[in-house]
Amino acid sequence: MDTREKPADSGQPKQFLVKCNGCSFERTTAGREEVTQIGNDHQRETGHELVALEVPPSIGSS
Ligand SMILES: [Zn+2]
Repeated sequence: MDTREKPADSGQPKQFLVKCNGCSFERTTAGREEVTQIGNDHQRETGHELVALEVPPSIGSS
């Protein structure tokens, strides 16, 4: 039986701040898949490349 715990994945969801170097586009999202999708969409529309920063779930509480 496999009883190993999952690595930190099952706790708080990770959030990402997606920013653009070429314009003022900025969006917070949860999940790498969304980051990739947003990045692809934006690049297709504008040719800009996005940067994703990992942010702690409790942002602004300290
Ligand atoms: Zn842009």
